Amino acid sequence: MKIAVLPGDGIGPEIVAQAVKVLWALRLNIDMTEAPIGGAGYESAGDPLPDATLKLAKEADAVLLGAVGDWKYDKLERHLRPERGLLRIRKELNLFANLRPALLYPELASASTLKSEVVSGLDIMIVRELTGDIYFGQPRGISTLENGEREGINTMRYSESEIKRIGRVAFDIAMKRNKRVCSVDKANVLETTELWRQVMIELSSEYPEVELSHMYVDNAAMQLIRAPKQFDVMVTGNIFGDILSDEASMLTGSIGMLPSASLDANNKGMYEPSHGSAPDIAGKDIANPLATILSVAMMLRYTFNDETNAVKIEHAVKAALVLGCRTADIWTEGCKKVGCSEMGDVVAKALN
Ligand code: NAD
Repeated sequence: MKIAVLPGDGIGPEIVAQAVKVLWALRLNIDMTEAPIGGAGYESAGDPLPDATLKLAKEADAVLLGAVGDWKYDKLERHLRPERGLLRIRKELNLFANLRPALLYPELASASTLKSEVVSGLDIMIVRELTGDIYFGQPRGISTLENGEREGINTMRYSESEIKRIGRVAFDIAMKRNKRVCSVDKANVLETTELWRQVMIELSSEYPEVELSHMYVDNAAMQLIRAPKQFDVMVTGNIFGDILSDEASMLTGSIGMLPSASLDANNKGMYEPSHGSAPDIAGKDIANPLATILSVAMMLRYTFNDETNAVKIEHAVKAALVLGCRTADIWTEGCKKVGCSEMGDVVAKALN
């Protein structure tokens, strides 16, 4: 197993160190090499995605990423900002399918801001298209009109084949779960997503066992808060998925609990927590490393086809929660508050 380890910025190095600790504790035959990305890439090589980092990532079977970004880079030219490194690596590795499970551990039901009966037992998989849509569509930019006024332009576009391949990922995952797919669009207003809906309907004929439903994105945002347990697999485009998956994260108590996988057509993947680099808490050893540790479980499951060890990690995370260990973001009265590193130790120990 060749893994490129890209800690990135902010809390990235702290949380990735815990995930690496857990991987070592499994005593697998792994080759891990570390490289900078984001602000760390800019600092070391003047590029948020240095050539050497991209080469390492391309040669690896999987990439483990922390997070990128810091407010101190906000004034850099756009192409030098940390987030560009992330967008570029996703594009370069052709990682078009982003999987974000939102699963609520019963032990954390009281950490959610929603009533526990609304979220208890929640288990949603959000499948987000990652390399198309308004984030990449051309033309884009800010220009000055003839009257001197500035105008900003972004373009929402999806080709049929792009929609089909992400749809297939969602239907395949649904087949292994509760066989329900909800496709989220804005087909009443946007032609791009009118096509999205048509292609999803066409594709569904290949999956007669899966029940396909459709929802407008504004309603989906509301339903996620009103009755989130109605969903099994949600599939949507890049921008809607970006927003809905963050919303879903709060159902589970903290964004610090949510792993993610971004896959190419051959299940090579980049695995990272759903949250950002949290510069406000960086370097304090208080970040929650569980999303990153759970991302490693996804790596074993989706890229290395190692369900046994994936489940082992998920059980170890559950064991840490059952023991009452909580980082500050998920702490409630009566639990033991632990730091980032101690949480990593507890999970690594619980593996055995
Ligand atoms: P963020 O996700 O970094 O933080 C949002 C809030 O959640 C903060 O209060 C933070 O302290 C908290 N938080 C996040 N992860 C946590 C964890 N593991 N444990 C405990 N608390 C946690 O989002 P933001 O503040 O909007 O952005 C900060 C930086 O991260 C920006 O530079 C942004 O561009 C970048 N960012 C990067 C990614 C990524 O690398 N994938 C994603 C989103 C944002």
